[in-house]
Amino acid sequence: MSSKNSLDLPEDRLGMLDETGRRKFIYPAKVVGFFRNWRTRFYWVLILILLILPWIRINNHQAILLNLPERRFAFFGITFWAHDGPIIFLFLLLTVASFAFVTAVWGRIWCGWACPQTVFIDAIYRQIETWIEGNAIERRKLDDGPWNTHKIMKRSFKWFAYAVVSLIITHSVLAYFVGSSELSEMMLQPPTEHWTAFLIAWVTAAIIFINFGWFREQFCIIACPYGRLQSVLMDNHSIAVLYDEERGEPRKSKDVPKDQQGDCVNCYRCVTVCPTGIDIRRGVQLECIACTACIDACDEIMAKVNKPSGLIRYASEAELAHEPRRMFRPRLALYLIFLSIALIGLVKVVSSRESLDLSILRATDSPYTLLPIKDTDPEPLISNHFKLHFHNLEIADARVQIMLDEVDEKNAIELISPINPVRVKAGETNRSHLFFKFPMRLTKDTGEMKVKVVFFFRTKNETVPYVKEFTLVGPREN
Ligand code: SF4
Ligand code: SF4
Repeated sequence: MSSKNSLDLPEDRLGMLDETGRRKFIYPAKVVGFFRNWRTRFYWVLILILLILPWIRINNHQAILLNLPERRFAFFGITFWAHDGPIIFLFLLLTVASFAFVTAVWGRIWCGWACPQTVFIDAIYRQIETWIEGNAIERRKLDDGPWNTHKIMKRSFKWFAYAVVSLIITHSVLAYFVGSSELSEMMLQPPTEHWTAFLIAWVTAAIIFINFGWFREQFCIIACPYGRLQSVLMDNHSIAVLYDEERGEPRKSKDVPKDQQGDCVNCYRCVTVCPTGIDIRRGVQLECIACTACIDACDEIMAKVNKPSGLIRYASEAELAHEPRRMFRPRLALYLIFLSIALIGLVKVVSSRESLDLSILRATDSPYTLLPIKDTDPEPLISNHFKLHFHNLEIADARVQIMLDEVDEKNAIELISPINPVRVKAGETNRSHLFFKFPMRLTKDTGEMKVKVVFFFRTKNETVPYVKEFTLVGPREN
């Protein structure tokens, strides 16, 4: 149906490859329109969040910190450790289920609106390129032209700007892993003080520089695992950027009589703006990252030829085939079930989680021990032995001071702890022993009695008292 045009893409290879299989650099043309405006705003909100978040502190901790060497993770005031297995499992389940659900409903919305690959390339790297080298036609001309002073100057300036941006992004990302204050300190010190961090920073910056500056959307097509999963997660009711073939075809061509032509004027504008170099009119394609550029481009053309917008639009294949809309689908229900389980479980586990906690076990040697009577003892004494496990899931070390809740001189209960206060390092568990020495008469009626002990967990920032009740046992007189 279509007349052959130099912009017609080959059927047998990716739009990004030439006939020899080598990369064909894509120069997407500038596009304006509704989605373009909203995407730019949204991208900058995301970039600002990424840059600002490491500098925000909640409860004296960095809002988000992923300290891998110490296996310590701070998330909006809550600290997790690698041994917080259920939380990490539920968080991963929540992430996977959310991605699956969002993809099943809205297709590759993540790729077009929130993926760092798209956000940084589109909002920063390609803008720098356009600013320095000009529009798509000028960029292509510069690329094809000889290496003269003009080209060397432009290219050097562009790659220098890319390097600066890559270093800024790298340091912002590293702040999530090493901590913003630690990173600031490191940056003021010579590299010899912290070679590992220095090398990691430069290698990361180099990867970002090459990936966003040169490799670009090839990553989405060749390397991104999420892109590969699309066909599994989506069905024909999922929303995608689609061309309305029924309305557009047969597209304008000298071979098709005017009164039989569809709305597509065959201007190739949707092809020239596409960052992955595809023709959306060929249907759903793996290379489409749902960036919406072709929607805006086509809407602009439709306005010029006085036709309604939406020849390319967000739609489902079922909708374009006039099939009834199905909101309820088994895969959606399944993803929602997993999402709900993960969300409810996560809320429950996090809300019931104590960052400073204690478990008490009665020692298994014997329930009580009759102590040898000394001359100084006014009456027979017995002792009970307990084992204590202190858990410190806080970000700082803690000291635990142990004392009886009420010192009862008449009952003369004595609390004996070999180490008091007990030191518990951040993220660790420490064990200790606790003995109670008390007169035998206290248990003679029932064989047991209750006593309250306070454990003061002291960290740099706070003191949390925990009151625990112990059941002391001893011989019973009948
Ligand atoms: S086909 Fe359209 S939505 Fe898909 S990548 Fe190309 S321009 Fe973006
Ligand atoms: S921009 Fe619209 S009218 Fe132009 S070729 Fe693409 S689909 Fe057809």
